[in-house]
Amino acid sequence: MPVKSGNYSMEKIAVCPGSFDPPTKGHINIIERALAIFDKVIVAVGENTTKDATFTPNERVEMLKEIFKDCKGVEVQKFDGLLVDFVRKHGGHTVLRGIRNMTDYEYEHQMALANKTLFPELEFIFMITEGKFAHLSSSIIKEVLQFGGSGAGMLHPIVEKKWKEKLGK
Ligand code: ADP
Repeated sequence: MPVKSGNYSMEKIAVCPGSFDPPTKGHINIIERALAIFDKVIVAVGENTTKDATFTPNERVEMLKEIFKDCKGVEVQKFDGLLVDFVRKHGGHTVLRGIRNMTDYEYEHQMALANKTLFPELEFIFMITEGKFAHLSSSIIKEVLQFGGSGAGMLHPIVEKKWKEKLGK
């Protein structure tokens, strides 16, 4: 049963923010593995991404909800504005991010320090990708699919289906 300690609930909550445009097998793997460490993983789908989006925030949320529909510990939400505000609002103080390489690390390191100036108690957990997913990024997958390649090894069937529906329109 969750008990209180200090200002935080002892329920271990991780917020996993990202664009998820679209979610890849790399994202899914990080979220699944985090469930072994946290009671709840809140997947926070960013609305205010600077990247050119292929899927609307609602479509991304729907795909993730469908993928994790049997995982009790996973909650999927849209988020807008500051990450620190979202994390506070949900009673957490831990952000989970996946790391594929040194480029990810350098970016994440800077973002973590910037966020900690806004919310000093905020903790960042960086989970190293499994080797077989290290090459996966939403943007690379989008290029492969755009030119007719198959996303089978990279995308969950739910995402592949949604992608095909989008192309067919
Ligand atoms: P953002 O636009 O914020 O970078 P992404 O949707 O691209 O969001 O990624 C969300 C999180 O998932 C980030 O921490 C990113 O490093 C991580 N991630 C993306 N692809 C992979 C992968 N193949 N393996 C592990 N982590 C990944």
